[in-house]
Amino acid sequence: MKNSQEILERESENIPKSSRIKYFDMVIDHGEGALIYDVEGNEYIDFLASASSANTGHCHPRIVQAIQEQATKLIHFTPAYYANEVTSSLLTRLANVAPGDFPKKVAVGTSGSDANDSMIKFSRGYTGRPYIICFSGAYHGSTYGSITLSGVSLNMSRKIGPLLPDIVKMPFPDTHKMRPNETEAEFVDRMWEAFLEPFENWLPVEEVAGVIIEGIQGDGGIIAAPKAYMEKLYAFTREHGIVFAVDEINQGFGRSGKMWSIDHFNIAPDLMSIGKSVASGMPFSALIGRTEILDSLDTPAHVFTTSGNPVCAAAAHATLDVINDEKLVERSARLGEIAKAFFQKMQTKYNFIGDVRMYGLDGGIDIVDEDGRPDPDATTKIIYKLFQLGVIMISLRGNILRFQPPLVITDEQLSQGLAKIEKAFEALNNN
Ligand code: PLP
Repeated sequence: MKNSQEILERESENIPKSSRIKYFDMVIDHGEGALIYDVEGNEYIDFLASASSANTGHCHPRIVQAIQEQATKLIHFTPAYYANEVTSSLLTRLANVAPGDFPKKVAVGTSGSDANDSMIKFSRGYTGRPYIICFSGAYHGSTYGSITLSGVSLNMSRKIGPLLPDIVKMPFPDTHKMRPNETEAEFVDRMWEAFLEPFENWLPVEEVAGVIIEGIQGDGGIIAAPKAYMEKLYAFTREHGIVFAVDEINQGFGRSGKMWSIDHFNIAPDLMSIGKSVASGMPFSALIGRTEILDSLDTPAHVFTTSGNPVCAAAAHATLDVINDEKLVERSARLGEIAKAFFQKMQTKYNFIGDVRMYGLDGGIDIVDEDGRPDPDATTKIIYKLFQLGVIMISLRGNILRFQPPLVITDEQLSQGLAKIEKAFEALNNN
């Protein structure tokens, strides 16, 4: 077998720069639960869960079995033409598992990005209005629609404009932006005024089709909007006949200690996009929403040949079974408390640890300099040290440690991984 260097050299000849976010020279051979093994046989504890697409861990035996069995029966026949049982029954299941006691339909895709594009399509189709509101700091994908919705980095869409028209980006109520001595209520009032400002100046509210938001911003830094803000936003959409759409691609399926991040707010969205962990990383995504919205487009305006793939659907059925049977949502909440206590302890010990946010096994830990400002260099040092110690972790916004292990991680693996994080913090402190 080739070693990592040979594989990476060959790969660099073929993969475009825009398709790779490079960390270190490692090539994965296989994964098992919360562990990853490279081609040289080194073991890593995975605190990234393949960007939150492996909530059930790597190669869960029940999911592997479901995939194998379905692959021997039917790999694909596009469900847009002829139905198959496994995909069809999954749609019912997904509609039932999504929040909201109202009739729903489910449109399938293959990536989170296309599911978010469809939120734009269906919101516009249903309301007949053009404008879509989204938020700074969010990441919604890399197709034209979803990259336009994304506010995480303007750099991402450099050179590829013009982007989609009539997408309006509002300031996300990022609690990092609270002023010294400002209370949360004052912050919410200030952010809400900023939200309303465009409506007073140039944006006709009766031309707004939808609002798209993450319950908890993922790539933005694992940051939840204050509850009062989300409630105001939801009430605003009710008042003005605007579709309230939530992106659960990163945060769904138990990640935040609840099945959906929007459950933290007790809101049932009109539309919800899912992807990543729905089929444990197999290419499957969906838009779940109110029947009247999903039925508003009456031409085949949302068909992809390989969407609704039955092998992926079998993986999604098995994923839902594993989440239920192994009580992964409760597990995420319980282990999240352990992780939170650990990072809070570290915060009292090391000045370079700023804000710690943890919702289930969904954490953002700010690394800061002595003046409390973001410290990307120190963050990179921690991540590199962790890599050397056998822990996979990445950063968000340059200085936020992203903590998203598979929800099946054992208690022992979690404490081993946290002990390694402590070592990496110690190393930085002694540096
Ligand atoms: N939405 C959110 C919140 C995400 O985190 C991502 C991916 O990171 C996407 C959408 C895009 O999903 P995909 O990469 O499957 O297209």
